[in-house]
Amino acid sequence: MRLKLLNVLVTLGLAATAAQATVTDQMIENDAKSTGDVLSWGIGPQGQRYSPLKAVNTKNVAKLLPVWSFSFGGEKQRGQETQPVIHKGKMFVTASYSRLFALDAKTGAKLWKYEHRLPDGIMPCCDVINRGAALYDNLVIFATLDAQLVALNQDTGEVVWKEKIDNYADGYSASAAPLIAQGLLITGVSGGEFGVIGRVEARDPKTGKMVWSRPVVEGHMGKKFDKDGNATDNGISGTTGKTWPGDLWKTGGSAPWLGGTYDPKTGLAYFGTGNPAPWNSHLRKGDNLYSCSTVAIDVKTGQIVWHYQGTPNDGWDFDGVNEFITYEDGGKILGGKADRNGFFYVLDAKTGKLENAFPFVKKITWATGIDLKTGRPNFVPENRPGDPTAGADGKKGNVVFSAPSFLGGKNQMPMAYSPDTKLFYVPSNEWGMEIWNEPITYKKGAAYLGAGFTIKTLSDGPIGALRAVDPKTGKIVWEATNNAPLWGGVLTTGGNLVFWGTPEGFLQAADAKTGKILWKFQTGSGIVAPPVTWQDGGEQYVAVASGWGGAVPLWGGDVAKKVNYLEQGGSMWVFKIPK
Ligand code: CA
Ligand code: CA
Repeated sequence: MRLKLLNVLVTLGLAATAAQATVTDQMIENDAKSTGDVLSWGIGPQGQRYSPLKAVNTKNVAKLLPVWSFSFGGEKQRGQETQPVIHKGKMFVTASYSRLFALDAKTGAKLWKYEHRLPDGIMPCCDVINRGAALYDNLVIFATLDAQLVALNQDTGEVVWKEKIDNYADGYSASAAPLIAQGLLITGVSGGEFGVIGRVEARDPKTGKMVWSRPVVEGHMGKKFDKDGNATDNGISGTTGKTWPGDLWKTGGSAPWLGGTYDPKTGLAYFGTGNPAPWNSHLRKGDNLYSCSTVAIDVKTGQIVWHYQGTPNDGWDFDGVNEFITYEDGGKILGGKADRNGFFYVLDAKTGKLENAFPFVKKITWATGIDLKTGRPNFVPENRPGDPTAGADGKKGNVVFSAPSFLGGKNQMPMAYSPDTKLFYVPSNEWGMEIWNEPITYKKGAAYLGAGFTIKTLSDGPIGALRAVDPKTGKIVWEATNNAPLWGGVLTTGGNLVFWGTPEGFLQAADAKTGKILWKFQTGSGIVAPPVTWQDGGEQYVAVASGWGGAVPLWGGDVAKKVNYLEQGGSMWVFKIPK
């Protein structure tokens, strides 16, 4: 009897140790509240990027100093859009060119590095970036530019499994941080500029084996998979031929390239979807579902429960991939999204019902507003780029000036939500573009745009602005402008602080209520990544990756010229207040 009890105790003890050592669903669901770790992209699957920590606060943030900095090294610099994850004193951070580093979170000492071998023919649209890794069990899992998923042992960096998402030669790539929900690893795909088929996929995170696949181009068949990998049909997404003319749905793009968020209270994963392909909207009359939308997927079944489309029949490359952040408001679960098209949307996270919509940038030319009854934009037809077949030579449609530019009122840089101030902190940009359409036919693995463009400034003044947005009233409570376009994400804390980085290289902190900048530090290259915070040994740490790059220098036209003095880099910075 006594021996038996001892056995039970030993077993329980071992189980407790194991549970502590490995990352579980419960830990990920609780990530926003557990301040000793950062286990997910978004600091919690809801994506709020809010930490209750307040050891660093408005009164003492001016004393924040670097603890360590780590160089990603080599000749491989370029854009660093990554968010690190932190578990058991280890930091796992991805870097450009599909690299992943494990570092000692206290000292910055390098523990191991994984360098993915990339083929020559990869086709990432917008720099060789990566946005971060997922943690599950004893694994750290990330997506690579050649459209693979790689799972590594957290302690050793050894490859535990590797799975192909799709053919990189057909235009597929992957750069988002995977999402963990209900014991599944959930990912999207990149490649909307190549006419890929956008889809969301769920895998067993321990093995990489597929569980379900849900296309987000209307008309395609969903699949589910048994343990042996045998696929069976799991229902068509929508209705074939309903919102797409002819065969265009077969190469419809709509890539959910920024990954997703998840709310355990709704059981739904929220993925934003990219532009329909090609860009020339006259070729595909109709709404072109589920492009430029938020799609809510039941994690258990892999079915689309609701969708909301920000830009039906998009003609401006207004990818609707932006993160959908859920939050509670008077017993309701709502979601906020700052769309590339310049409008901020508030939706019921359970039903997808539109609760509010308002502009978060100053100039929007393509629509005059959003009809809250129908949920549809009030288009300005003359501001849609013209049909090339209607032009004199049939080669170039009417050129229009459009704002925002296709780089968006907001792009990949994730915003934050504070349950203290009840405000969203949105990294936004004011810019425009000249855009026109051209004839195009689909060719596998080739760019599929049918459009030309030049990004333009709207004035000689600042392009970027960090804006505190009230989702209830639609008011901009404060803004902090920035000369270069903002391209990094945001962190907000219980210390009444908002942290964000600038392409000019500063990580800075402002009072969350007033926007007054209280601290800044020069990291040596531009910041295009979101900061994080955690505590260890009673001290609060703040970290951000530095390294200028991403889409702006590649596609930014006149804006790229304006900021071409900015230098590349690649490093991780960690800060705390000295004892
Ligand atoms: Ca946590
Ligand atoms: Ca796009």
